[in-house]
Amino acid sequence: MVRECHSSSYKLYDRALESLVGGVNSPVRAEPRPTPSFVDRGDGAELVDVDGNRYCDYIMGYGPLLFGHDLPEPVREGVSEAVADGPMYGVPTDVEVELAEFIIDHVESVERLRFVNSGTEATAAAARLARGYTGRDKIVVMQSGYHGGHESFLVDGNVDDRKPGSAGVPDAFAAETIPVPFNDEDVIRDVFERHGSEIAAVLTEPLLGNCGIVLPVEGYHETLRDLCDEHGSLLIFDEVITGFRVGGLQCAQGKYGIEPDLTTFAKIIGGGFPVGAIGGRAEIMQAFAPTGDVFESGTFNGHPVTMVAGLETLRFAREHDVYSHVNELGRQLRSGLQDLVEEHTPEYTVTGIDSMFKILFTRDAPDTMDGHCRAGCKQRPECPRFELCPKTGADVRAGETDRWKRTFWPALADRGVLLTPNQFESQFVSYAHTEDDIERTLDAYQEVLSTKV
Ligand code: PLP
Repeated sequence: MVRECHSSSYKLYDRALESLVGGVNSPVRAEPRPTPSFVDRGDGAELVDVDGNRYCDYIMGYGPLLFGHDLPEPVREGVSEAVADGPMYGVPTDVEVELAEFIIDHVESVERLRFVNSGTEATAAAARLARGYTGRDKIVVMQSGYHGGHESFLVDGNVDDRKPGSAGVPDAFAAETIPVPFNDEDVIRDVFERHGSEIAAVLTEPLLGNCGIVLPVEGYHETLRDLCDEHGSLLIFDEVITGFRVGGLQCAQGKYGIEPDLTTFAKIIGGGFPVGAIGGRAEIMQAFAPTGDVFESGTFNGHPVTMVAGLETLRFAREHDVYSHVNELGRQLRSGLQDLVEEHTPEYTVTGIDSMFKILFTRDAPDTMDGHCRAGCKQRPECPRFELCPKTGADVRAGETDRWKRTFWPALADRGVLLTPNQFESQFVSYAHTEDDIERTLDAYQEVLSTKV
């Protein structure tokens, strides 16, 4: 039905190959074979492609689209008015103050903010801020984590053997970035023992959202917090995905009860428009210019259209109990998938939390569901199955990877369910999804899992 060689998508892709690198503007978009679907429009929870195929969409723009593809009335109106007033000015506006106040009112650890234009910019600036504030150079990150496409965080390996994660990244960056396995307390303790006085910050997502959704084991965040306090390093939570999604308006840090020193945001806080932000304790944030000497600036920072879209998005989410809806549908979907996996592919794992979900083609470990082992052990090491749980990014990536691209993803797309073409990226339920959508999605998974496509 879809992505055939005579389709309009195929023709557009062929044409795009002559003007855009690889036919796309972000590599993951080129992954579907034989061709990506080119989108005509969004409609509620669905995407309609240029060939008229409709897909129940769980990519949701890779996270920003909390409401699905139709913006709520106040967001649409706010955006239209902002455009009509002249799209941007390069001088301050009231709406950027209002959005900052909203975030500060809801996220305990945030006292000051700086708005930028993407998650990548936010994490890059947070790294510079941490380095400038502490006077140290090294940043600890999680293996298989993702914080955007810039030099500091495109680093692979481990503490003793680090290398650039992309051509074009100088070795000097790898020297200053230390990847450690998520959830491994022994390794992070050892790294602080050896390098504590050089570490500016530990930067981590509260849960890993770019390698299949890996939830924190009990006590891991607290260990990071304690080690940072002990050694004068900053704890930075990258809440680009989880911010105003996991844990609702309090974000993942509220859900887990941890206060980082700095937080990076993006995606949902822009209401579908390009955005990023760094927030945190006033004393640290003041190190940014103009109050401090850490440089950060941007022509489009605090763009009025984005600011109003973000503000109205968060207000709407607060006033309409959006999180109860998306979290309940997320729970239903994970629970249905869990039953299917147990019946057809017990070697797979269903993972996720709140409105995020994923099936991992890895070892039999339902234990990561909603942060709790189904057997009730809450992932404590004494659980007999504990060793089987995917706890680190490497565990997840050790699973079968070929099937996703070759057969699994296309089979679900052919049944009208659009998942992330990359096996490891998070998928999202939106406010526009309904129980009927969840049911037909589970029917599609049932067909695919039962035939071992
Ligand atoms: N941090 C995390 C956790 C992300 O998932 C992403 C992107 O998906 C980024 C940073 C980079 O954000 P952006 O794509 O807006 O630059």
